[in-house]
Amino acid sequence: MTHLTLQSVTKRFNGSSAVDSVDLSVPDGKLVCFLGPSGCGKTTLLRIIAGLETPTSGSVMFAGKDVTHVPANRRDFGMVFQSLALFPHMSVAENIAYPLRLRKMDKAAQSRRIAELLELIQLPHMANRPVTQLSGGQRQRVAIARAIASSPKLLLLDEPLSALDAKLREAMQVEIRLLQQRLGITTIMVTHDQREAMTMADEIVVMEKGRIAQVGKPLDIYRDPVSEFVADFIGLGNILPVTHDGRGGVSLPGGQQIIVANPARVTAAASDEIRLLIRPEDVCVKPASGEKSSNHLAGTVTFIRDVGATLEATIDCAGFTLTAATTPRETPGLTTGMPVLAELPAHACKLIAARTTH
Ligand code: ATP
Repeated sequence: MTHLTLQSVTKRFNGSSAVDSVDLSVPDGKLVCFLGPSGCGKTTLLRIIAGLETPTSGSVMFAGKDVTHVPANRRDFGMVFQSLALFPHMSVAENIAYPLRLRKMDKAAQSRRIAELLELIQLPHMANRPVTQLSGGQRQRVAIARAIASSPKLLLLDEPLSALDAKLREAMQVEIRLLQQRLGITTIMVTHDQREAMTMADEIVVMEKGRIAQVGKPLDIYRDPVSEFVADFIGLGNILPVTHDGRGGVSLPGGQQIIVANPARVTAAASDEIRLLIRPEDVCVKPASGEKSSNHLAGTVTFIRDVGATLEATIDCAGFTLTAATTPRETPGLTTGMPVLAELPAHACKLIAARTTH
């Protein structure tokens, strides 16, 4: 059974749709990320789920009940927003106790719950410290402890890590994910960071202009994006214009024929409606003298970004540029100006829908 279901949810502000006919089921116990560029409607959708915004049309079902018009404070959902909104004049324990006091939990039960939560967020010795004297990561953990204090059925997180520096942010991603899995709490998190979504989510909902562009497991979306928009948003990709002969034959901008994983895609679409996607890590760089068969393109290395563990080579293939991700160990001796063969394995060459301009 899925706990949260959105049915044709639309929200219009001054006549324009921030969220447009969204249907979605959020499975129990999973962490789902709403991912998309600024202004695509992620926060509005989360606020509708939270009860902080009423949809213009459509409904929000939770645990089999229509909660579309149930106010936020009666939904019993835990929330953490970008600003955290901890009470600065209160200690860690007082912040965590706040929702428990609102529910009139007795003092002894409150103390037990606070101790349990402090243990959970690994701050057992900081109960009495004012929250103003905590680090960013510690404040983050307190905000999460407060959000889950009264054991909500759903946890809503809106860019909760955006104020943290990159390293702490990555550490907190793992921490929140482990905590969520341990508690088995259904969680929805808004982010515009694809790496964060890939790290944390069971399912990613990619949004584009108020609509859902694709829903799926992180790796499925990465490997099989439905469109140029999704491919471009999730990870690095070589996205190339192609032409086709209508019979499954596909050619690159330089005229080279290429075998693709899903040739049937072209029969349904005009050339300008499709693109070829190949991820940089799927491009194999070989010596120019190597054996040449189909899907091998001659090119010249024009730039190398070698950061020790990984190596990224830009290859000019006369007519277009490819990025190949490899390692110094896999491609020793690669230098700028070197002629190479770039192999694009057919199974990794995917035709996808081109980005629409409207
Ligand atoms: P960001 O990543 O920048 O927070 P987002 O994907 O969360 O963006 P929303 O905040 O949901 O996007 O906004 C979606 C659209 O709705 C935007 O065009 C925004 O300007 C508009 N919008 C959001 N809230 C309101 C409001 N209260 N009144 C009018 N327009 C709004």
